[in-house]
Amino acid sequence: MSKTATKAEREHMGRVKAMNCICCTLLDRRQESPTDVHHIREGQGGAQRAGNFLVLPLCHDDCHQGKNGIHGDRTYLRILKMTELDLLNATLDALHRGR
Ligand SMILES: [Zn+2]
Ligand SMILES: [Zn+2]
Repeated sequence: MSKTATKAEREHMGRVKAMNCICCTLLDRRQESPTDVHHIREGQGGAQRAGNFLVLPLCHDDCHQGKNGIHGDRTYLRILKMTELDLLNATLDALHRGR
């Protein structure tokens, strides 16, 4: 997490961390590892990371750091036909509906 996160950003990231993996939810799969907070990279250019509100809940072992995950070959994004921004939209939708 960014060292410059504001209180509001920290609170938001805490809520996202408490969510179920958005990718597993959309794939209708059972989540098998804890949720990580992933900063989206789309539209950020190069190695730069998005701001602290632009975060997704992704399960650590699979959708986040797994070989098919968002830091892997991104198979799950292709199956879903979604971008990271689409997942962000779905995340905010779920958050505001209280899942
Ligand atoms: Zn997952
Ligand atoms: Zn990540």
